[in-house]
Amino acid sequence: MAWSINSKLCLRCGGCVSVCPTAALELRDNIVHDMALCTLCGVCAKACPVEAIKVIKQ
Ligand code: SF4
Ligand code: SF4
Repeated sequence: MAWSINSKLCLRCGGCVSVCPTAALELRDNIVHDMALCTLCGVCAKACPVEAIKVIKQ
């Protein structure tokens, strides 16, 4: 199981932050991800306009 972000692709638009159902994401200088809150639902990855987020659930 894994959540990852390519910060070189990220536009810091905040789109992933606003769709996360568990508030696991926060926009600071970069996107900050709290694995303890993340359910690996993949909603953030689908919402990202540049496919910067990858979610692998096994
Ligand atoms: S995978 Fe789901 S729970 Fe985890 S950060 Fe993305 S939207 Fe939030
Ligand atoms: S939706 Fe994508 S581009 Fe926008 S802040 Fe999140 S990871 Fe970055």
